[in-house]
Amino acid sequence: MSDTIRICHLYPDILNLYGDYGNVLCIQKRLLWRNINCIIENVTVKDKLYPENYDMFFIGGGQDFEQEILLEDLLVNKKELIKKAVDDNKTFLAICGGYQLLGKYYKTWDGQNLEFVGALDIHTIGQKKRMIGDYKFTCQDDDGYFEVIAFENHSGKTYLSKSVNSLGQITKGNGNNGEDNTEGARYKNVFCSYGHGPLLPKNPRLADLIISTFMKQRIKDFKLSKLDDSIENLARNNMIERVRFHSQR
Ligand code: GLN
Repeated sequence: MSDTIRICHLYPDILNLYGDYGNVLCIQKRLLWRNINCIIENVTVKDKLYPENYDMFFIGGGQDFEQEILLEDLLVNKKELIKKAVDDNKTFLAICGGYQLLGKYYKTWDGQNLEFVGALDIHTIGQKKRMIGDYKFTCQDDDGYFEVIAFENHSGKTYLSKSVNSLGQITKGNGNNGEDNTEGARYKNVFCSYGHGPLLPKNPRLADLIISTFMKQRIKDFKLSKLDDSIENLARNNMIERVRFHSQR
């Protein structure tokens, strides 16, 4: 296998809400800053998917109707390949609608019951009231806990089974469902979040956690070199202040 990291961006033309594409650009940049080559390949409706070619998969968010547009292709042409890639410990980052699609089903707010991939034992129930706003949650990597700041806009409430861990614990906002304080999901090497923004550029520790995950699949005990994240952390701290300020009003 070449030493170039290959990222598969699934349905980039359909699922790219709030600039979620920025997540793959962030991963690519943080690799290039470490002199690790990285290419991004788009795979959308009617494209053949060769999971063995990729180190990481990304799927962004979208409206209910955008999720429905791609559903036939997803279930007919890609469902089993994605499930096997997850079981084979491939690294995924799935945001909001893309996150929901990895689950078993989505009952939309107007009562449609949509079968999804079923790669994770989770399900989503839509509701009329949307969960919208800047939100925060704590996440954990090998060095301990850290705070993540992002933006959420979803009607779906996602519930995790016992076999799926959350990505983090909510400290402000709704996260998965506004009820159980969980945000996102982690299962094998799959990272899911409701975080738009895009999520990764102003959360460099989460970006590096995901990079380390797929790099360790290639090189056992791989250690990621540190980057100067002063600008990224400035953006993050600014957002944390903004959320704190708004929550005091
Ligand atoms: N359509 C889904 C919902 O409303 C996901 C939305 C999104 O990706 N932002 O819950």
